[in-house]
Amino acid sequence: MHSKVFKMETSNDEMERRLYSHDMAPLPKEMDLLFKTMPDSVARPQYTQDVVQLVMKAISKNKPIVPRGAGSWGLGGSTPVKGGTSIDMTGMNKIIAIDPENLIVTVQPGITWKALDEALAAKGLFLPCYPSSAPSATLGGWISTGGTGIGAFKYGTAGNIIRDLEVVLPTGEVVHTGDKYVPQNGGGPNLNWFFVGAEGTMGIVTEVTFSVLPRPEEFRVVSYSFDNFAMFQPALKKLVRSGARPMHIMFGDRLHFDYLRAIGKHAPDVGCMITMALDGSKASVDMEEKIIDDIMTAAGASKLPKETAEHEWSERSYEFRVRELGVGAIPGEILVPIDRMNVVLEGMNKLIKQMKMNAPLIGTVADQNTVMYMPYYLTDEHKLVASTAAMGFAKRLGDLAFENGGRPVGLGIFFAGNLAKYRGKDGARMIRRMKDLLDPYGIMNPGKMVETGTRLGISLPGWFMNFGMWAMGSVKRVLPRDRIGEKELGKLKK
Ligand SMILES: Cc1cc2nc3c(=O)[nH]c(=O)nc-3n(C[C@H](O)[C@H](O)[C@H](O)COP(=O)(O)OP(=O)(O)OC[C@H]3O[C@@H](n4cnc5c(N)ncnc54)[C@H](O)[C@@H]3O)c2cc1C
Repeated sequence: MHSKVFKMETSNDEMERRLYSHDMAPLPKEMDLLFKTMPDSVARPQYTQDVVQLVMKAISKNKPIVPRGAGSWGLGGSTPVKGGTSIDMTGMNKIIAIDPENLIVTVQPGITWKALDEALAAKGLFLPCYPSSAPSATLGGWISTGGTGIGAFKYGTAGNIIRDLEVVLPTGEVVHTGDKYVPQNGGGPNLNWFFVGAEGTMGIVTEVTFSVLPRPEEFRVVSYSFDNFAMFQPALKKLVRSGARPMHIMFGDRLHFDYLRAIGKHAPDVGCMITMALDGSKASVDMEEKIIDDIMTAAGASKLPKETAEHEWSERSYEFRVRELGVGAIPGEILVPIDRMNVVLEGMNKLIKQMKMNAPLIGTVADQNTVMYMPYYLTDEHKLVASTAAMGFAKRLGDLAFENGGRPVGLGIFFAGNLAKYRGKDGARMIRRMKDLLDPYGIMNPGKMVETGTRLGISLPGWFMNFGMWAMGSVKRVLPRDRIGEKELGKLKK
């Protein structure tokens, strides 16, 4: 832990506080009736000791603190619901140590993935997994949202690659959850995993140590198209049973690429596109490409030119370019078992039709059992009806995932009611007890994860939130059709 004495940057400026009153998905101003999203102040710590100081101050003043990375999550994890101090972690962005001998790196959590990747590349190292929001997202935010992303199919997600976290607990104590050099086996419960997906409610991550890889001899990207996305399922079932193990598999449907073409971007005219990244020795990559070619073409896919694949890879961090239309693109995110992916696809298309929306589909293959679907809904998120209706869509999409053995991703401000669905009633109670134990003063990002807290001092029960969101979905069904982007799509067809 650093013990340097310094002057921490803090601000009470209204404009600045406003910037911290939402994340990637702004909330309509009417939500202020329920939630105090505007923080009272913003602080930018640089060292662990600053964070300890902020926690002690929050305890003494009995005021919330809300950790924040880049605010690139869309579920409001870093948006206050009861005011307090927003703790902007992006100033804690230093690389503490790179150990190429042991393939281990230790960093402060506010560094972006892109900055870290560049520093690692200079030392011949390679990130096993990072989010497609790498240009802006921080490591701390990624870990706290249960991070997954590029590389997860082969190398696993946040919990798999972390060796150790330094965490400032809501009491001001500083703990290490693992060990820098050896994995967390057989020494009591794995505390690294406890903070993965904790959404900033259990403590503030102030240092991260994780495993990296040597840069591979060969890195290659291949893309295939099908007439429709449903044709991918049988191929994927074969692929996960084959000797091929791409580091990443991502896809987009026809509407996604149509929108890109409609706004003048370079994108293929295809029923859907599946793109895979292969890494390893040249011989192993050649072999994997051959296996994948055989599986995909047998299932009816066409292999796309190398340039198309490479262009798609270069665009992997810019999935929501359609925002250039001047609209919001609110993603829904669900995890679905591979054997249910076509059933869910059908249900999702029905839902999108019923709710009179335009929702292109993008996603990834999360691991050998699971697919992540991320349909995004085009809307004007500043308008109350449009954005509440979008929440109605996310709720019904989540229900569809639950019905098929999957689940929605993340709890954020509105989905704390799902905790009991994930963990069962007793499991949710256990997490609530752990929260009470770790955060006895209730200062650490309160009103989330174990409850839907409001500025009024009462928590909204899970059933109420679920009913409310279901009702919003019903409102959306009777509203006129959303026409955002249709004019541009119409021009494309001419
Ligand atoms: C285009 C796009 C692509 C995306 N792709 C992916 C993807 O591939 N994989 C993926 O997992 N997500 C993805 N996301 C979602 C989002 O970018 C990630 O969750 C991201 O890692 C969040 O990081 P952040 O720094 O923006 O965190 P924020 O949004 O600021 O915070 C997220 C949560 O983490 C908490 N938090 C932040 N820092 C800390 C800390 N140091 N200690 C404790 N809690 C903290 C906050 O309180 C909040 O609850 C994507 C988003 C976009 C917009």
